Amino acid sequence: MSERVSLFNPIYYVNGKPHLGHAYTTVATDAVARYWRSRGKDVYFQVGTDEHGAKNAEKAEEAGQTPQEFVDEMSATFRLAWDRLSITNDTFWRTSSKEHKDRARAIFQQLYDGGFLYEDEYTGLYCTGCEKFITEKELDEEGNCPDHKKKPEELSEKNWFFKLSDFLPRVQALIESDELLVRPAHMKSEVLGLFKQGMDDFSVSRQRVTWGVPLPFAEDQVSYVWVEALFNYITGLGYGSNNDEAFTKYWPGVNVVGKDIIKFHAVYWPALLLALGIDPPRQVFAHGFFTVDGQKMSKTIGNVVDPNELVDRYGSDGARYLILSQFPFGQDGDVKAGQFDEQYNAALANDLGNLVHRVTSMAEKYLEGSVRADALVGDAILLPLVKELDAKIEDAFTAFRPDLALESVFALVERANALIEEREPWKLAKDEANRQALEALFADLLGGLQALAVFSYPFFPEASAKIADRIGLGLSEQGETSASAVFTVRTEEPLFPRIESE
Ligand SMILES: [Zn+2]
Repeated sequence: MSERVSLFNPIYYVNGKPHLGHAYTTVATDAVARYWRSRGKDVYFQVGTDEHGAKNAEKAEEAGQTPQEFVDEMSATFRLAWDRLSITNDTFWRTSSKEHKDRARAIFQQLYDGGFLYEDEYTGLYCTGCEKFITEKELDEEGNCPDHKKKPEELSEKNWFFKLSDFLPRVQALIESDELLVRPAHMKSEVLGLFKQGMDDFSVSRQRVTWGVPLPFAEDQVSYVWVEALFNYITGLGYGSNNDEAFTKYWPGVNVVGKDIIKFHAVYWPALLLALGIDPPRQVFAHGFFTVDGQKMSKTIGNVVDPNELVDRYGSDGARYLILSQFPFGQDGDVKAGQFDEQYNAALANDLGNLVHRVTSMAEKYLEGSVRADALVGDAILLPLVKELDAKIEDAFTAFRPDLALESVFALVERANALIEEREPWKLAKDEANRQALEALFADLLGGLQALAVFSYPFFPEASAKIADRIGLGLSEQGETSASAVFTVRTEEPLFPRIESE
């Protein structure tokens, strides 16, 4: 692993408010960003919003606003949601910004000058919902767009096309050799399958759309929103401007995406970069789709989970837990939203919250709130486990599996709670002769809490700082605890108040 870790989230389309799907990608990436920062890496994390295209223009008109007013308002809802979920992005990048537009135009000019674009007539089935031409194969049984349940219209227009075919063999070779790592493994197979089927050149511009970036060499056309959106990863780093210092430093990195946009990120995007003479992403990690309580998330069913509502009810840490703990990152799964209260109470209020409360209150009661870290004699239980889990957590984050790392956090919690039950400190405390054994036990438990503060930082930024504070340690902004020879312990209100279901 190099000294730099650069992470890029898809920019979210602002025709609707942030929902659990967006939060899922972004919270997972944030856990990864926090972890590597806590390991001393130079981390860059970019998020943003995708603001052009006909759909946004339509939505703006419906709302009686200009497109810019509409996207300003919608983009702000994403920024707010990420603040509330404690997301530590370095950049929040917007495609309607002048900077992005100027840089995107410079990129189009570069592609044009390189001879990678050509003009052609395009006729196809166009879904306005998707804002793309879709193939016959993709239609459902009624001949509708499967996502929008609407018949696509046949459309013909003059577009500029990108010579994808020139780059397909190189992109394929990069993926096969893992120089461009596509993960998880099943996504790599899926992408390699696309090469076998063959892929056509794609158009990079639109004639009928006005809300977008005009092509510098054909001002009557605006860039196809999907293509222009891909450019955001490098325009956000300054590429195409006269200051590309951040670009030089942080590109290439990892594109974290949902599997529905894997083709754009693992094939089209690397091909565009190669045409620009730029290295493709180091890695494209695609996570799976989820259902909510067994059903596809939809406004009609009314099971759309709003991340803001999660934060309202469970706090920022609680929301992050519920978002990440449902199923393995990279697989498809089901989000048991109907059990959020129980899940929160069991894992956070009971297991984690109670552990911290029990250890600190007993250390205060039996040992006057002061325990020497070196009081440990011989048979430490938690500290060897901490070492083991530390390695497991590193492996999990290296594999882009924050959910697995989270399981290791709870393995420590579980073992510490069991240790208390086994040793029954309330019995030891009855006899002064057991003082040394009691101190040794609490040195182990408090060492465990110190590790817990560090381990939980990628997931629970608020709780991890509180845990460190309650055992007399500081926690740096990078998630590292200060060192101290003595744990100075105090008890405070529960870390995770229980939720009472109505
Ligand atoms: Zn559609």
